[in-house]
Formats: sequence, C-alpha cells, structure tokens
Amino acid sequence: MNIIDLHCDALLKIWERKGDLSFRDSEELDTNLQRLKKGKVKIQCFAIFIPPEIKSEEQFQAALDQIDYFHTEVLEKNPEMKQIKDWASIYSLNSNEIGAILTLEGVDCIGNDVQKLRILYQLGIRSVGLTWNFANLVADGVGEPRGAGLSSFGKEIVALNNSYKNFTDVSHIAEKGFWEVIELANYPIASHSNSKAICPHRRNLTDQQALALFQKNGLIHVVYHPLFTANTGQATITDLIRHIEHFCSLGGVKQIGLGSDFDGIDDYIIGLEDASKHQNLINELLKYYTEDEVKGFAGRNFLEHLPT
Ligand SMILES: [Zn+2]
Repeated sequence: MNIIDLHCDALLKIWERKGDLSFRDSEELDTNLQRLKKGKVKIQCFAIFIPPEIKSEEQFQAALDQIDYFHTEVLEKNPEMKQIKDWASIYSLNSNEIGAILTLEGVDCIGNDVQKLRILYQLGIRSVGLTWNFANLVADGVGEPRGAGLSSFGKEIVALNNSYKNFTDVSHIAEKGFWEVIELANYPIASHSNSKAICPHRRNLTDQQALALFQKNGLIHVVYHPLFTANTGQATITDLIRHIEHFCSLGGVKQIGLGSDFDGIDDYIIGLEDASKHQNLINELLKYYTEDEVKGFAGRNFLEHLPT
C-alpha cells in the first residue's frame, strides 16, 4: 500500500555531512531511495530544519544549502525522485516515481524578513511549522517555559501561508500559539505528533487540540518516535496503533496520516527502524481496520485534505 510520509530529516543529515552521504543507498540515512522503494513510499516530505546552535545570521544560508543538497543529492542523482512544488502535480507522478515535498520546521531562519519566506515558497516549501521547540520571532515552541502565542509577525506569516495555499504545521508549537493558529490558519496540520492522552509527552496533542484540528478540517500525522509513543520509551507498533485508535475515537478516522520523523530520531519503534519498514505498520493496521480505512491513514486522507 502506497505511503505518504509527512516528515523526515534526511536533508539535515546530508547537510551535516556536507553532502557526503548517498541518498540512493547510504545505510546512515533512515530515508534513502532504496528504503523508500522497499517501504512503498509514494510521497516523502523533506523538512528544512536548522539546528538552534547555528547563529541567526547564518540560518537562512543554511536553509538554502539544505535546499541545494535536496536538488543535487536527492533529485539530480535519482531521476525517480520528483519534486512536488504545487499540489496538482501530485497526481502526475508516474508509477515508478516518488514525489518529494519540501517543508519548513520553524521559521527561525527568516528572522524578521518576510521576503525570505516568500523565496522559500518559490523554492517549493509547501508546509510551514512556525516553531521548533524554542522561541523565535513568531511564536514559542513547546520547550519554551514562557509559552507565548503568536506575535503580529507570526499572524502575518499564517496569513501568507493561507494565501499561498500552504499548510501551517502545529507539531512543535506551544499551546497558546496552537489555539491562535487554529483561529487563523486555513490549512492547519500536525505533521508529526501523537496523542497526549495515550503518552503525556509535551510534543503530543491533547484531546481538545486533536478535536480542534479535526473540526478545522486539519490532519494529524502520527510520529514513529518511541518517546512520543509509549511511556516506557520502548515502543512497539501496537503502541503506535493505540494513538491512531484514540484519534479515531475522537472522530479523526479520515484525518489521520503518517509522519515518521526518520533521520530526526535516534531511537526507533520496534519494527519501524527505517523507511523500508512502513509496510510492517500497514500489515498490523489491516488486522484492526478495513482496507479502505488503512488506505486513508497511509496517504489518501492527506490527498483528500490538500489546500484548494
Ligand atoms: Zn520535529
């Protein structure tokens, strides 16, 4: 069954290694072409994430460098990989092609310059998370004790996301900002988050947040991080399915998807160690849900909630 994975950090690893990792088959990449094919991934989102220790004035260049690696290492060396820059072209992929979508994890790299964000849109960024775990000029992340909501600049960015028909990603944002995004964003999404009711980690969503996303026609893509999946920190596929089941009980059966976080995690759910293993989750899901429902989780729910 074809998979759409809303989050991976392969570009971060390739950038950290200055391009010295083969996207085709490097063992060090959880997300490489060989593994995507084996896992039947049809569309893979690639996050631009700049580590917070990079100086502010160097962050935008680092984002551009990651996009350059996306072109040279992911696309140009692998003709099967096709960048999706507008939603309509998702449907023009050939059967042997894998779609690749750029996303932004935290707008720290644009500083206070909205023009930089427009440049990133022009380069194909189609989903924008306002924060990572810390604060920036638009909002606070979940790791910021202050927990502030959106600045005026943050509200401007959400409006810009709306006008460009981009998703606004709430996966790392503090709760106050989350509720403001729900008010303002036309296309809210949690690209890699689980349920706080099942595993009370700060990165997970409360039932109220999940319900608000579903009511706003948004999506929740569950993340394969053991820390966000089971309280013990060691997690199985069954533990991950508990999150899917809980989101279903809140009415989200048609608004749940997958967001692995491969290459951004060092620990793995047993049976979901890299992108070649997605079908282990699908096979387990098929024991509990109809084929139609599982197809929804695997990718169709995402396609049915694309910005229009
Ligand atoms: Zn993340």
